[in-house]
Amino acid sequence: MIISTGTASGKSLAYLTPAVASCLDGGTILYLTPTKALAADQLRGLRELRITQLRAACFDGDTPFEERTWVRQHANYVLTNPDMLHRSILPRHAQWSSFFRRLRMVVVDECHGYRGVFGSHVAQILRRLRRVCARYGSRPTFLLASATASEPGAFGMRLTGLEMDEVTVDTSPKGSTTIALWEPPLTELRGEGGAPVRRTATAEAADLLADLVLADVRTLAFVRSRRGAETVALTARAKLADVAFSLSTHHPRPSTPRHPTTASTTPLETDPTHRPDTAEPAGNTQPGPLEPAPTTHHPTEPARTVQPTPLETDPALTHHPGTAEPADTTQPGPLVSDPALSHQPGTAEPAGPATPEPSRTASGYSTTDPAVSTSEHESPATEPAPESSLTWALPDVPAQPDWTDLPNRIAAYRAGYLAEDRRLLEKALRSGTIMGLATTNALELGVDVSGLDAVLIAGWPGTRASLWQQAGRAGRDGQDALAVLIARDDPLDTYLVHHPQALFGQPVEAIVLDPDNPYVLGPHLCAAAAEIPLTDDDLPIFGTTTSTVLDDLVSQGLLRRRTAGWFWTKRERATDLADIRGGGGAPIQVVESSTGRLLGSVDEPSAHTTVHTGAVYLHQGETFLVELLDLEAGVALVSSATPDFTTFARDITDISILATQRSQPLGPGTLHFGEVEVTRQVVSYLKRRLQSGEMLGDEPLDLPPRTLRTRAVWWTLPASAVAPLAEAGIDLGGAAHAAEHASIGLLPLFATCDRWDIGGVSTELHADTGLLTVFVYDGHEGGAGFAERGYARAVDWLTATREAITSCECERGCPSCIQSPKCGNGNEPLDKRGAVRLLNTLLSSQ
Ligand SMILES: [Zn+2]
Ligand SMILES: [Zn+2]
Repeated sequence: MIISTGTASGKSLAYLTPAVASCLDGGTILYLTPTKALAADQLRGLRELRITQLRAACFDGDTPFEERTWVRQHANYVLTNPDMLHRSILPRHAQWSSFFRRLRMVVVDECHGYRGVFGSHVAQILRRLRRVCARYGSRPTFLLASATASEPGAFGMRLTGLEMDEVTVDTSPKGSTTIALWEPPLTELRGEGGAPVRRTATAEAADLLADLVLADVRTLAFVRSRRGAETVALTARAKLADVAFSLSTHHPRPSTPRHPTTASTTPLETDPTHRPDTAEPAGNTQPGPLEPAPTTHHPTEPARTVQPTPLETDPALTHHPGTAEPADTTQPGPLVSDPALSHQPGTAEPAGPATPEPSRTASGYSTTDPAVSTSEHESPATEPAPESSLTWALPDVPAQPDWTDLPNRIAAYRAGYLAEDRRLLEKALRSGTIMGLATTNALELGVDVSGLDAVLIAGWPGTRASLWQQAGRAGRDGQDALAVLIARDDPLDTYLVHHPQALFGQPVEAIVLDPDNPYVLGPHLCAAAAEIPLTDDDLPIFGTTTSTVLDDLVSQGLLRRRTAGWFWTKRERATDLADIRGGGGAPIQVVESSTGRLLGSVDEPSAHTTVHTGAVYLHQGETFLVELLDLEAGVALVSSATPDFTTFARDITDISILATQRSQPLGPGTLHFGEVEVTRQVVSYLKRRLQSGEMLGDEPLDLPPRTLRTRAVWWTLPASAVAPLAEAGIDLGGAAHAAEHASIGLLPLFATCDRWDIGGVSTELHADTGLLTVFVYDGHEGGAGFAERGYARAVDWLTATREAITSCECERGCPSCIQSPKCGNGNEPLDKRGAVRLLNTLLSSQ
């Protein structure tokens, strides 16, 4: 059974009830979650039930060895993760025999996280689990809990190999949410090839966060990186410090309607005509959120807590080795507020009346002065205004609000906090001590923040499913809420803010995985054979390609074929063959050079692009600079740093077609899906200034080429179809290149992937096809299912690609449409109008 519904719809209760009942009935439960933090939270919840017969325990990398035996022998509700199941529980199944014998139910929570290559690995681990259960005579029910997804039953079946019933109707009570789609304006700054640069999503998020907190709206801002989250928090705090400073300097009486020098630059005031469609904001007739609501209440608390320390950076809390994050860093762009530039297409008002609290200080003053904020942005660490300015203010009004405390109502949060720190944070948010929180989406896992009024999402979170999940954080006690999606400089973000129909009333994405990927299946067949020798009867469980892959494994000497079946006869652990969170190959260890601390590992293919010498490397939101990448030693040495630039690796790519598996006509051209060999060489990296996006240079790199056998979708156009375009003066190479970039940017709309999971090649004349050809391939060995999805949804995908290009208002191309941050050719040549003509031709008869 798979339950696929929204945030806070009661999924936990739906699996807990039968699970706990099974435990009381003498059965055991295996609970799987992608992260340890979530398992720990679940455990706390289970213990709060205070059911003595329920013996719940976590079994993960943190479980002390002396406790492990107890868990194996006595626990009847075991919480673990796929990694632990793969490396420890399944290989030592004999030690778990009594647990497996009584196993009634396997709960796979947050299963939408199991996508792409990682999901394919998990799919095979679950097949191994089913086989081990069968060995002990149990046939557990699989109960999957997922965020909303398209075709959840089909996904559940791919993940487990079992028929699935699906539950998708959510009847939990909810208020309505107003969603604003927000596009930052183009600025005067110029990027690559003179392309205009947009104001960054983080700069806009900081403005909005400050405004909303001033308007007494409890707000959570989701930002991609921790650095970005901290920038948002610091910038918003600096804005509030300005407000506090002005208010205290000019010591307005509580009845003063507005600070005289107010120069509000906030986008919340712009364009009241264009309003999102869902909820009608309450308080329409009142002044906007930035108009001063005459403040009449006085604080009763003397000096509220300053600096919720555990929420601030604490290096002692950071050593959580784990997987690497893609080096998609904060967006470059100016932070200069210019009212003239803020022509946002959408606007929003906080939905629902903000409940003023007795301890509230200001509600709705904005004194942000563009000149001041400029300097503040350049040094985001600017401290709040000095407290001394307050003491003498308005001595005749003793209850004068404590303005200096304003900035402290905003904090930043990141991954890796201990449970007790997270609890403190939840409490501060609930009590209103903190009104605004900027966070990486680490918060999605492990922290229970309910009771928010608004959510800001800086940059498309990758999927509609994540968007709804993040937006679902807003809305307390069934009240209405606000969610704002702020577009980044990226074709997909551009497309979405111009095409709300792509978001609203649309099913969320399908969760894509490819369990048949031979590079995934092979290692798990070895692991399965090591667990219990494989027989012919086992083959169907692992899929149709199993016998071919087994033959390969035998010929490679990894498995031995005997009459009784296939055996693992090596001394090594078979499970070491599968790097389930990486892309295959020996991973590169990322080590902090000063301390020797292991930060995590990066799979070898990604290492070339994410931890090359000189790269800015993000790990759990912390920033490091790579001193040296030593591929031979398998190590990248890094040091903690706060560079004011980001890096983008650039590669040159060749592609050859190995086999065409499917083809279909597309307009005058043809669409194909098949196997390809991609040769990529990272040749240099680009440095761009963090705040302005300004280009700081292209540094050469000396790295060997890598070959990747993977799957691709590609389209070709015959010479007869492209000749008229060439005659019309279109640069065909530049047009194909631009179409390729934009289509890579848009594929994540149809498959749950990141633009960094896929790559592309375009050429006016490809050696294998003899035609103009544009390829988009899976960036993982053996493929991950993304290109296949692109093939299946080609018309929608390429139509959306064309729309993304045409709806960007730039003239000749920019990062919001056809430029790619990872282009190996320095975004040359690109022909924006040509790309549209080319796609028109391709889609002409559709
Ligand atoms: Zn553009
Ligand atoms: Zn390119």
